[in-house]
Amino acid sequence: MQEFCSLSLEECKQWMEESGEKPFRAAQIFDWVYQKGCLSFDAMTNMSKDLRAKLNSSFCFPSLKCIRTLNSEDGETIKFLWELRDQKRVESVLILSKERRTVCVSIQVGCPARCAFCASGKEGLKRNLTPAEVVEQVLHIDRFLKEKGERVSHIVFMGMGEPMENYETLVKAIQILNDPSAFHISQRRITVSTVGVVEGIRKLAQEPFKVNLVLSLHAPNQHLRKKIIPYARKYPLEEILMAMDEYAEKTGRDITYEYTLLSGLNDQREHAEELAQLLSGKQCTVNLIPYNPVEGLRLHRPEKQAIEEFRFILEDHRINTTWRYTKGKDIAAACGQLALQK
Ligand code: SAH
Repeated sequence: MQEFCSLSLEECKQWMEESGEKPFRAAQIFDWVYQKGCLSFDAMTNMSKDLRAKLNSSFCFPSLKCIRTLNSEDGETIKFLWELRDQKRVESVLILSKERRTVCVSIQVGCPARCAFCASGKEGLKRNLTPAEVVEQVLHIDRFLKEKGERVSHIVFMGMGEPMENYETLVKAIQILNDPSAFHISQRRITVSTVGVVEGIRKLAQEPFKVNLVLSLHAPNQHLRKKIIPYARKYPLEEILMAMDEYAEKTGRDITYEYTLLSGLNDQREHAEELAQLLSGKQCTVNLIPYNPVEGLRLHRPEKQAIEEFRFILEDHRINTTWRYTKGKDIAAACGQLALQK
């Protein structure tokens, strides 16, 4: 039995042809599933009985079961904890910001990057998600929003896992999210965040779609970066930055660097100065994210004043910054925190 939500429209058309059906049926089914949110072939009344039977014997959905939702006190984020077929758990976060309805999706169970501040990598990588397991995160949240007359508008691949380490699923999920017959979320509204996998960044630059790319930088030099991100040993920082520049050039998109501020570790004046040097002359934005406490980690969020100073130094060197108070702190919104709770 195949997972329906792993199919691109092309593949669905192909299946129709092979099953002796008209290819245009594919777009009709996509409309039922992704626009109407219908998860039963039997309810697709404009399909013949025979086709419905064939669909039922070939495809299944959904593979995710929502086992918990948590609302933040400020009402700005809702976290969804999913159980997969094999009882493993992943999570998604819905971020409500003005008219935006952003879903932060997971792409792996666990994570191979093992960043010092992050809950997702604490127990290493468990397995990759299938395209359907990614797409269904959006599908379920979209159905949830529809009840209030809203739809998912933006996607960020910033949940559990490293997108470039599950590249095929990433590309397939982007195709389905972007497809006019499915969610039709524009490429400009899809953002991929990477820890810095050079060949992945280069491959993504060659794809026919242009999504936003964010690099999780977290340090101004390779030495400190390796301490914070064990995975960073794999690639010299200069090579990653070069690949990011190439991506920006190829796609015409500005680059964003994420910088999680950890008190005493990467938030000092000299780190800000060094970061400004490293990024000087680049068309980019640095997104400063104060560390969001994770149980069992002995790290601290910097004082507000230290963050302001850090920001001031970058701005003084004409580097754009955004500063995000981590949303949903009270619901353990940082990546992977909920899935780890027993
Ligand atoms: N593997 C990808 C995507 C997942 S992490 C990557 O590394 O980019 C995405 C972002 O989550 C990181 O850049 C980091 O800024 C943020 N993050 C994760 N845990 C956090 C925590 N405890 N506090 C603050 N930010 C965190």
